Amino acid sequence: MAARTGKQFLQGLRDGRALWVGGDKIGSIADHPALSGAAEAMAEVFDLQHQAADVCLMPDPETGEPINVSHMIPGSHEDLQRRHRGLEKIAEYSVGLMGRTPDYMNVTFAGFAGRSDEWAINGNEQGAENLVRYQKKLRRDDISLTHTIVHTNVDLAKGKYPVGFDPVQLHKVGETEHGIVVRGSRVLATLAPFADELAVYPGGPMPDAAGVHALSFCIPMDAPGLTFLCRDSVSVNSNRFEHPLSSRFDEQDAFVIFDDVEVPRERLFIDANLAVYNSVMKTSWWPNIMQQTMIRAQTKLEFAYGLATRMAEAINLNLPQTQQMLGEIAMFAEFARASVYAAEQAAREIGNGLWACDQRPLLALRAALPTWFPRVNEIIRLVGSHNLLTTPARSALADRKLRPLIDKYLLGVGVDAEQRSRLFRLAWDFTGTALGSRNEQYERFYLGSVGRNLTVAHTAADRTRANRLVDRFLLEDLDEPAVPQAAVAAS
Ligand SMILES: Cc1cc2nc3c(=O)[nH]c(=O)nc-3n(C[C@H](O)[C@H](O)[C@H](O)COP(=O)(O)OP(=O)(O)OC[C@H]3O[C@@H](n4cnc5c(N)ncnc54)[C@H](O)[C@@H]3O)c2cc1C
Repeated sequence: MAARTGKQFLQGLRDGRALWVGGDKIGSIADHPALSGAAEAMAEVFDLQHQAADVCLMPDPETGEPINVSHMIPGSHEDLQRRHRGLEKIAEYSVGLMGRTPDYMNVTFAGFAGRSDEWAINGNEQGAENLVRYQKKLRRDDISLTHTIVHTNVDLAKGKYPVGFDPVQLHKVGETEHGIVVRGSRVLATLAPFADELAVYPGGPMPDAAGVHALSFCIPMDAPGLTFLCRDSVSVNSNRFEHPLSSRFDEQDAFVIFDDVEVPRERLFIDANLAVYNSVMKTSWWPNIMQQTMIRAQTKLEFAYGLATRMAEAINLNLPQTQQMLGEIAMFAEFARASVYAAEQAAREIGNGLWACDQRPLLALRAALPTWFPRVNEIIRLVGSHNLLTTPARSALADRKLRPLIDKYLLGVGVDAEQRSRLFRLAWDFTGTALGSRNEQYERFYLGSVGRNLTVAHTAADRTRANRLVDRFLLEDLDEPAVPQAAVAAS
């Protein structure tokens, strides 16, 4: 089929999936008020790849059909640069607010297929073959994927991962003629209403788990036995003037229940194989996926900088403290840009011909972002103060009697009342609405919490030079003893 249009994407969502938002079991996703805005936005993302085909599309290496560049298995520095331009285009569409547009999973699976040798160990040659075949289907059918890789929290005193057998966590319960049956639960499938299929793969090693928990596969969203419980909607079904972001960018998050779901054998990538499960995510996933996630983060930071600066200008807020806070966001954005640049410049082949970024600057950035984004929101709210809440609605601006009064009393510097309202509404939607709050939560956790990321920043760090700098002082030959011998003798 090749790269789809928005219309084709919306048609694909018409299936019998069991998906709940609040108390509603959703029938037509594109028509439900909690989901229609984001469904339309996602359709625009699919259309965008055709509108910006020179940046977003490339020929499939085997069939020549146009596919999204996020499906590329990078084989050179130039490939990564090309992928960068495509990823940036998609990130710009939602100014980084939709973290899980399909390019996220496209990049993930391109990396998996590029390092299929890592999956073909411990008797899992068939699983690796299935994975490579699936990635071809993913790119040619332009499938939108959601994913769930995190175990359900019940009793964290027992650990983050199953120890032995845990009936709450996703596990294999048996075999059928055509595949296996799985049961259990997982978190947290972002994009679930707007995905065609669900991917399950390892979130991290689970050394003491029973083998039945070690699974990876992809299945259609309407697979019998699969249920998605979405969180409360943060979508506001008003208009793009009043809620420029939450009218369209609520990508949703869903808890997933597998109630005896059959997984066809050809869609199984890991079948109760702990050795594979515990090793495949260790090396190539991070440097590959972080190009996508950090380009998105950089885009969002630059947007936040522009937004905060425009607000200050609109009311001529020139206090030194304001300048400093704007400088703080500019600094975050520049560090993000520089990290992505450095990571791409030092990209290299990481095995099996797959090229990926240098992960060091991206691991550092990843550890910083969960604290930067909440600070960015705080700055925007401090700069915006009450102005974030003096924003007439579109209908008020359209009222013939009211408009002259609004124009007279709610103007800004270089902006009329309507522009001022749009600007501060945009900032409030970014930080103060339910969407703003959910997005802050997303940035705090989606790629691991701060504590976890800082630990990785330390344990993954190359200490060669750091050690050398310290050892110079610890290991040098000292001519004289630290305490003069005469003093020792006298004491
Ligand atoms: C909005 C949102 C969308 C998401 N989307 C997806 C998705 O699409 N697919 C998916 O599979 N998952 C998704 N997730 C889940 C995400 O992968 C997890 O939130 C993430 O892995 C962190 O795990 P956790 O939530 O269990 O928190 P933890 O990392 O366990 O953190 C919980 C608390 O413990 C502290 N903590 C934990 N470990 C340490 C440590 N080593 N040192 C110090 N403190 C520590 C943290 O600081 C935090 O306060 C999403 C999460 C959110 C919030």
